[in-house]
Amino acid sequence: MALRPSGRLHGLPRYGKGRASQAGAYIHRLGSNEAPDGSSRLPPAVEDVLNHVNRYPDLRGETLAAALATRYALQSDQVAVGAGSIVLLEQLIRAFCDQGDEIVAPWRSYEAYPILAGISGARLVHVPLDSNYRMDPERIVASIGPRGRMVILCNPNNPTGTVLSEDVIDGLLDAMPRDVLVVLDEAYVEYSLSPTALLTSPGRRLARHPNLAVLRTFSKAWGLAGLRAGYCMASADIVEALNAVAPPFPLSSVTLAATTALLDCSERLLARIKQNETERNRLTAGLRQAQIPVSDSRANFVWLPVGQSATLLAGHFAQASIAVRCFDGEGIRITTGAAADTDAVLSSVAAWR
Ligand SMILES: *Cc1c(COP(=O)(O)O)cnc(C)c1O
Repeated sequence: MALRPSGRLHGLPRYGKGRASQAGAYIHRLGSNEAPDGSSRLPPAVEDVLNHVNRYPDLRGETLAAALATRYALQSDQVAVGAGSIVLLEQLIRAFCDQGDEIVAPWRSYEAYPILAGISGARLVHVPLDSNYRMDPERIVASIGPRGRMVILCNPNNPTGTVLSEDVIDGLLDAMPRDVLVVLDEAYVEYSLSPTALLTSPGRRLARHPNLAVLRTFSKAWGLAGLRAGYCMASADIVEALNAVAPPFPLSSVTLAATTALLDCSERLLARIKQNETERNRLTAGLRQAQIPVSDSRANFVWLPVGQSATLLAGHFAQASIAVRCFDGEGIRITTGAAADTDAVLSSVAAWR
């Protein structure tokens, strides 16, 4: 008998489909929602750590978790860290879902959700977005069946960039059954909330909702995708369950030192958020002027629901050395980059059709 992987992998979509192959070969890399610039000067703490790489790092990333707890005015047992928020989501699913359980998520949303659900033998229940590409709160609540264990809300939503207001999210949380874990995936939240709301919203919500887990990441607005770090804010019980399925030493000592030190330098973050807004507005206006549909985005990317033209349009961009994310038959997602990236996209669409 030949060697076979588990049946759970059968028919499972693969991550990265639609990603431009050899993205590095493109001049304008607008396919993965990365920040156009990184935090160029890494703090001296990183250099120190590089002199001690023979030692294991924190067992659970405690130093970073404690710094994050302070930043968000939470208890230190309310924060877990992992090598990307996607890893933490996988841990949450493993910790809370059994074979055959259901995970409710608006759709279209992040392409990793069905993969992560499938790996655990859980089933993703799709709730279609409304005609403005927004999540529909009533339909989400109505879609939680007897096997429903988890709801994943991506806000701002990837790939549409759309948001539900803070009030609507609060109402939705109030309406959720208490025995269902609600995961708020806030990978892009820095682009959509005021600096004050960014710091206070997790604590305010966690005080009311013991069944809530908020996921954030250093990969997007913080410009640190290559370091791999994300965090989960939740009740101590949820964090405990999440840590129970975590591998030991989830973050490298270099990542721990860099992220912990960079938490204190938010000017770069604020500048990046501001630049993103300028470029996203330019991109949206220019694309609409070229008669291309664009949803209202509050993230660092825009969504072009062009349907059957998606593959052709992505090919057209590729000829101008612009890598975008293509969802065949549905649309295209373009990351907001630097001014030169916006210029390239807009001059490319001028020659479309
Ligand atoms: C990019 C992204 C993530 C974050 O991934 P990391 O593993 O933290 O790099 C999580 N959720 C969504 C919706 C994303 O687009």
